[in-house]
Amino acid sequence: MRLVLMGPPGAGKGTQAGVISGMLGVPHISTGDIFRANVSKGTSLGIEAKRYMDAGEYVPDGVTNAMVRDRLTHDDCRPGFLLDGYPRTVEQVGELNAMLQSAGHRLSQVLELTVDIDEVVGRLVKRAADQGRSDDTEDVIRRRLEVYFEQTAPLTAMYDAQGLLLRVDGLGSIDEVTARIVAALAIEA
Ligand code: AMP
Repeated sequence: MRLVLMGPPGAGKGTQAGVISGMLGVPHISTGDIFRANVSKGTSLGIEAKRYMDAGEYVPDGVTNAMVRDRLTHDDCRPGFLLDGYPRTVEQVGELNAMLQSAGHRLSQVLELTVDIDEVVGRLVKRAADQGRSDDTEDVIRRRLEVYFEQTAPLTAMYDAQGLLLRVDGLGSIDEVTARIVAALAIEA
């Protein structure tokens, strides 16, 4: 299973990706988590990424693509992977395709979690209070949503045209959403 999980910030991608990757026995690869781990460790990648993250902007494609390219070569990705938060730009879609093609692979499915935007803003404000993420202030939240709708939302149409897209309603409890994803992917829970 080589899966991509898409959806706006606050749609619950991270939570669902954790559950679903466990069921499938494939690694959950979140570019946001990898960036945050680098920020915490103070690596040069983290220092560069933080400038963009704190402004609600995307980290440049060159940096992000190189990081994912490296991650996908790890042994744990042999049975597949669940990408969470990548690809997010047209260029990243092309790069991911190239990475997979060179290994003789292709994506199995792209899952989009759909949510109501007011609900998402509410979730993000709550997460800011709970986790103290520096990119969860109200201005930055607004910018992250704008960037998502400008650059990332249109990608789902590309995957839809390739017959890869599954849309799943992301509203409801964690278990309800998981059950919908399981049904959409037709996997054994
Ligand atoms: P996330 O936790 O997935 O919402 O990611 C947090 C932040 O990390 C984003 O707002 C971006 O600044 C950065 N980021 C994560 N994934 C990507 C990506 N695929 N391309 C560019 N920037 C990314």
